[in-house]
Amino acid sequence: MSIAFIGLGNMGSGMAANQARSGRPVRAFDLSAAALQRAEEAGARPAASAVEAVEGAEVVITMLPAGPHVRKVYEEQVFGNAPRGALLIDCSTIDPNTAREVAGRAQNEGYRFADAPVSGGTIAAEAGSLAFMVGCHEEDFADVERALQPMSRATIRAGGLGAGQAAKICNNMILAVTMLGTCEAVALGERLGLDPERFFEIASKSSGQSWSMTSYYPWPGPVPAAPSNRGFTGGFATKMMLKDLKLAQDAAAHADATTPLGAHAEAMYALFDKLGYGGADFSAVIQMLRGRLDLLEEFQSKA
Ligand code: NAD
Repeated sequence: MSIAFIGLGNMGSGMAANQARSGRPVRAFDLSAAALQRAEEAGARPAASAVEAVEGAEVVITMLPAGPHVRKVYEEQVFGNAPRGALLIDCSTIDPNTAREVAGRAQNEGYRFADAPVSGGTIAAEAGSLAFMVGCHEEDFADVERALQPMSRATIRAGGLGAGQAAKICNNMILAVTMLGTCEAVALGERLGLDPERFFEIASKSSGQSWSMTSYYPWPGPVPAAPSNRGFTGGFATKMMLKDLKLAQDAAAHADATTPLGAHAEAMYALFDKLGYGGADFSAVIQMLRGRLDLLEEFQSKA
């Protein structure tokens, strides 16, 4: 199965490397020469352009920053240059409407298309253990799953075209809301004299339990792998969470859905970002709620 891989940034570099490691021929392209060189070192064959990368490819995978990049790459470089019938898979996180529009164009041009955003950060991208949420026609899913296999620990079909993006932004809206709730409760408990570690023991076995608590507790100690144990470095950056929350709010406005907590979460993370903490893990928002931003000095943006 020959792969064209476009977008070799933080996520795409590890993903393309896993495709190459599985023995598939990979032609890679990125606007950044340094990214292209890393891909070559990982076993991919660099291309001079996206057009060159997709020529003769059976599968085209894109991992780009946002909707406008995805639209531009597909409309200006992939369509008409990848062989008709090729499977096009966009793994970027973008809004469901753009995903559906690009998918519609792809179908008109004679391609099969899937939106397949991921859960899991750069560590999972490097380890080949991402979770993919897929929007595609049912008859294409087996091929999509096979194409994603070297990068995946789980590939789940969410529904038709655009459904993968819908699942992604809804999931991340839950994540933001439960994290903010957890942070507020820990900060309140502290004021009330509770030991945050003891509170974890109680709430993680009570109805306050969530993934934000048991896998990502914003206080050091109870969950050793959580970014709270390493000064909120690494993990999932506030500015990335903010991007996903904005996508959720745009989608909600489009669909006339009521998402007041999602809107509030977006406002909270926008404020935290504006204060200069866009590079901190999203669970670091607990320090704002505790009135202890002084503990996050290293993240204060210089811009
Ligand atoms: P990134 O900015 O590190 O990488 C994007 C790459 O795309 C860059 O190397 C850039 O040069 C390249 N690019 C941009 N326009 C291009 C074009 N026209 N042609 C070729 N290359 C082009 O971003 P990332 O962190 O790898 O994220 C990629 C996507 O994955 C985003 O949509 C993001 O929301 C999503 N995502 C990221 C994470 C994460 O933890 N980083 C987790 C889940 C999902």
